[in-house]
Amino acid sequence: MRHFFAVLVCVFLFSRVTPAAPGAVRCGKLLDARSGQMLNDQTVVFDATGTITSVGPSASAKLPSGTTATDLSNATCLPGLIDVHTHLTGDPTANGYASLGISIPREAITGAKNARLTVRAGFTTVRNVGATGYTDVALRDGIDAGEIEGPRMRVSGPPLGITGGHCDNNLLPSEFHYKEEGVADGPWAARAKVRETVKYGADLIKICASGGVLSKGDLPGTPQYTLEEMQAIAEEAHKLGRKVAAHAHGTQSIKDAIRAGIDSIEHSSLIDDEGIALAKQHGTYLVFDIYNDDFILQEGAKAGMLPESIEKENKIGRQQRENFRHAFQSGTKMAFGTDAGVYPHGDNAKQFAKMVEWGMKPLDAIQAATINAADLIGWPDKIGALEFGHYADLIAVSGDPLSDVRVLESVKFVMKGGAVVRNDLAAK
Ligand SMILES: [Zn+2]
Repeated sequence: MRHFFAVLVCVFLFSRVTPAAPGAVRCGKLLDARSGQMLNDQTVVFDATGTITSVGPSASAKLPSGTTATDLSNATCLPGLIDVHTHLTGDPTANGYASLGISIPREAITGAKNARLTVRAGFTTVRNVGATGYTDVALRDGIDAGEIEGPRMRVSGPPLGITGGHCDNNLLPSEFHYKEEGVADGPWAARAKVRETVKYGADLIKICASGGVLSKGDLPGTPQYTLEEMQAIAEEAHKLGRKVAAHAHGTQSIKDAIRAGIDSIEHSSLIDDEGIALAKQHGTYLVFDIYNDDFILQEGAKAGMLPESIEKENKIGRQQRENFRHAFQSGTKMAFGTDAGVYPHGDNAKQFAKMVEWGMKPLDAIQAATINAADLIGWPDKIGALEFGHYADLIAVSGDPLSDVRVLESVKFVMKGGAVVRNDLAAK
């Protein structure tokens, strides 16, 4: 009996998040993200659960009975893109003191708006690393229930950090007694905070290992969590089946985080040769958000960012890009993450051109946003490639992204789990 109910519950949940109909998409060209091969005239077939059942030449494709393939014969198909560092519940209009006037319910509504912009830009999965009030958990669950449009989400809940650090909020004087909900000092308090965050729905843990750019009163290069605290966090999170992403600009913090067993280093700005060697040795993913520097320097003051933040970005931005090139050439694992929310959501793909400008080939940048990102997120067999058994998460562009990666900035077709999100290619 219990088994029967379990099946019923599964069917119920499943039917709400996935289309009822099987179908197919016919692609003029299709990028095999894993091999890097561009294939001609391919058809992707999916079943009623939105899972791919076959990919191959259109001439031999067996379509589900009674269906015709969506015609993308003038376009190039790719797997749905993945951004491993977003903040969907925040906008770049609410920086510095303006951010204090925004309620948690209001942030959730901002998140619903940005989820839609993000999936329509071709990002069918995001890893959201830091949100207040578990708004990211609500957003993920609302999307999965089919109530609002958005990407698949892996969410961290509130980020963990030290008192007065980048993941605390230092804008108010002491009489307000304000601290962010993720603040936890010392190994045992940090372990307890990991448990609490998991209790309320986090898929992963986000921590602040070093200072940051957009926070008040700290420096990006200085360490915050100690090695001992990060070891406790990593051990506790892994025990509970969760990965850990560490915000780390500073040279020492990057190395401490890697040594502690953290799974990905976010920003990675001031990484040195020893840090690069450690990342390779431990298999740690590096995430460099190298597009948003331009936005901070050009638009940050208008967007209300603190003068000290602009000053910090001025010092660190170019160095981060040079270290991105160096780390890539050294062969570290890299995943595509942009810190969306620092710049306007939906512009995520603008980072591809930056990655190419700073040393990657277009295919490397696309792999960072597909197979590598899927591996880091923990869904290597579900997203990031158009293969049997993966979700039918597929985008299409006009032109060849391997010769001009900027075509990814104007995605024409988006499908998530076999359901069409947008189609600008349909005959009018
Ligand atoms: Zn961030």
